[in-house]
Amino acid sequence: MFCALAMAAWAESYTPMWTPGTVISVLVWSVNEYGYVIPNATIRVTTEAYRDSNVHAAAYHTAPAPASKFGTTSTGPWVNATNLNTGPTGQRYVYLKAGQRDISGSTIDIRRSVGQAEKFMVCAPLGCDYFDYAVGYPGIHYVEEKPNVWLHIGALPQHFNDNVYTHWMQSHAANGVYRAASRFLFKYPQQGSIRVNDMALPFGGLFDVRGTWDPANGGHWNHGRGLSVDIRGNGKEGSISQANGSAAQYEFVQLCIEEGAITTTTKVEFPGTDNQHIHCEWPPL
Ligand SMILES: [Zn+2]
Repeated sequence: MFCALAMAAWAESYTPMWTPGTVISVLVWSVNEYGYVIPNATIRVTTEAYRDSNVHAAAYHTAPAPASKFGTTSTGPWVNATNLNTGPTGQRYVYLKAGQRDISGSTIDIRRSVGQAEKFMVCAPLGCDYFDYAVGYPGIHYVEEKPNVWLHIGALPQHFNDNVYTHWMQSHAANGVYRAASRFLFKYPQQGSIRVNDMALPFGGLFDVRGTWDPANGGHWNHGRGLSVDIRGNGKEGSISQANGSAAQYEFVQLCIEEGAITTTTKVEFPGTDNQHIHCEWPPL
């Protein structure tokens, strides 16, 4: 029984998750009721995001979520929806660019890429077909709570109010902050345990704490690849001491750096505010 009247196929390099910036060539065509490819068919190609995926709670994010764009050439321009003529052979390629949000530009702005599940769909007058894919970074793992070393904080409704979704990192970065924390607690046993705030989301990508998909406004984009962690330093429960000009916090910064963190981006952020914290960030492997 033949039922798929418009079909999409994609290159053999299929993987379930594509890193932002990856260009995937997708062959699209339309067939008639006998299964023959129709020359010069008009089809509609669209991409869309699955809401609530990668814990971006739809109820606390603006709609629509920005899905990856595609182009009719491998360098754009990039769109989320267009009508295409399939040409004399009836088959043509379109180019899906994972994480692309801008209309122009061949170099992707990874600060704007959203990790999430998405759908690529092609429709012809007689029917539609689609495939699912994800945008994100591989190699990000859950970092469990370690009560003698750290407790999780930072859950927000934007991410379903659950710290399980917000504490994911790449292994070398998680190991780095674990070693830094262990050394710190060896020197300051009275600290008890530290409080670890945002790391990364399970797929990585924009860590959208305000639900606006804006890297410049609560987008927390440098927590997108599982390489960063924030340590509480605002004086609330479990904070690293703010005494002596936050000397202990600068010691923690130094310990992260000794454990491989990046010297330029690892620092005490927003000192003197309610958001004061230590941001430790490791380079990619
Ligand atoms: Zn941070």
